[in-house]
Amino acid sequence: MDNDITRSKVFYTDIKQVLKPDCLDVLVNKFYKLPQDYVPRDLEPVNSDYSDGNHLLRHEARLALEIMGKGALEEGISIKACSAFRSYDYQEEVYLRKKTDMVSLEEYQIERDRVSARPGHSEHQTGLAVDINETEQTFEDTPAGRWLAGNSYRYGYILRYPKGKEHITGYDYEPWHYRYVGNELAHKVYNSGLTYDEYYEIYLQ
Ligand SMILES: [Zn+2]
Repeated sequence: MDNDITRSKVFYTDIKQVLKPDCLDVLVNKFYKLPQDYVPRDLEPVNSDYSDGNHLLRHEARLALEIMGKGALEEGISIKACSAFRSYDYQEEVYLRKKTDMVSLEEYQIERDRVSARPGHSEHQTGLAVDINETEQTFEDTPAGRWLAGNSYRYGYILRYPKGKEHITGYDYEPWHYRYVGNELAHKVYNSGLTYDEYYEIYLQ
């Protein structure tokens, strides 16, 4: 089911500031922005068994990722965080990374917006989002990609930018990007078949 309201909006217009950035069900997208100075207070490093470097997540999300990683390992599948918390300033750097003097900011934004969030609009700033193993479309067809797609909700994580929903999420399909929302909500979102943007608008707003 597509939500016509979500659909008809133009991305990065009518932007609202997120009022409760610490809530586990917080929605951050191209219409909801985090305060520039927002940094979660309970960031913790992910255990190196489930991380390819020094990546931080909020306490609950970190615990859940490690339990999920353990569950995957029991089936012979390795999952490791390759990006997690990103500050506003770091996201700005990521967003502008490919900008050259050859293109105007407006032209740059058209292409860049499909794959990277503008600062303040990245879920990674919540400390509840994690990229797993590799940020490549081909991740979908790896054992880890398949396992996550079918099992992550059992651990409180949802696939945030599904295939075919680009017009709703505002992002190309990202089989590697998972968002922690807690077990109960993850089950509900998974069973609804909706994107989190739609689910939030319909049931949580
Ligand atoms: Zn991501």
